[in-house]
Amino acid sequence: MSALEDKKKKGLVFNIQKYSVHDGPGIRTIVFLKGCPLSCNWCSNPESQKSEPELAFNAGRCLTFSKCTRCLQACLRGAIIREADDTLRIDRTLCDGCPKNCAEACPSQGLIVYGQERSVDDVLRVVEQDAAFYTRSSGGLTLSGGEPLMQGEFALALLRDARRRRIKTAVETCGMVPWKTLEAASEYLNYVLYDIKHMDSGIHEAQTGCSNEWILDNFRKLALLDPNKTILARTPVIPGFNDSEEAILAIARFLEPFPNVRYEMLPYHRLGTQKYHFLDRVPPMDEVTLDKSVMPRLIDAARSVLGDRVEVTK
Ligand code: SF4
Ligand code: SF4
Repeated sequence: MSALEDKKKKGLVFNIQKYSVHDGPGIRTIVFLKGCPLSCNWCSNPESQKSEPELAFNAGRCLTFSKCTRCLQACLRGAIIREADDTLRIDRTLCDGCPKNCAEACPSQGLIVYGQERSVDDVLRVVEQDAAFYTRSSGGLTLSGGEPLMQGEFALALLRDARRRRIKTAVETCGMVPWKTLEAASEYLNYVLYDIKHMDSGIHEAQTGCSNEWILDNFRKLALLDPNKTILARTPVIPGFNDSEEAILAIARFLEPFPNVRYEMLPYHRLGTQKYHFLDRVPPMDEVTLDKSVMPRLIDAARSVLGDRVEVTK
């Protein structure tokens, strides 16, 4: 693929987040791509899951129709509904998150479309603005999502062109992608963050919608492909799903044979809850919280197998 072809390639991006220090080494810019093959009940980015653009409505920011009717006029599909009390409802059977839309017309950011078509060149120009920070901190670009490798050609073009621009790269993946895509991406990746959620395939499927065989198989192949490349295996610790020593020990034993693999557990949080409401969805785990005593126990369990390869989230 030529540099020019890569630069022109387009994909669906729903956010670009600068100055992140959590998703790979150093200071990073995170590019979030739409679409995910899993549907984890604890997902904190529900706006990432569908592969199409989606309209979110934050009622708290809306001026209501008594003061503003801009979105009503902007929508050509009749998807904005005026209720009797002058509040707004979106008819999601009519709305397709069109690009020239109500969100552009809204003066208060009450409406946001998640998922803009953007070119590789456009995205990397934004990423490149912080090149000086990457150099000083060994940071760079992290592709996230959703599952970024689901938009395989776009993700590969981003990684290749980042390499041409001497930007270091990382990916956050759930592993549920064709091996050929992961293998091809690996060539342009400096660092991989790879989710391992549960070793029991039935339990995995019940909470994520997919069994884990493919994910584990891809992980083994990736860890062996380049023993010099560090993979950070990550487990979101979810109450009632994998918050037991038994579940974490099973993961740690799976990772143990691969010396290039480090391990991190991420405690469950509810930061994405509000976004479900913005999308007219019910958060599947609204009432759940993680007891403070859980993480130290699980870290000790993982360390009993992996020693100092276990990283502790601050
Ligand atoms: S995103 Fe487009 S279709 Fe949906 S409500 Fe807004 S203008 Fe209408
Ligand atoms: S344009 Fe924005 S502020 Fe105005 S009614 Fe629509 S959502 Fe509310």
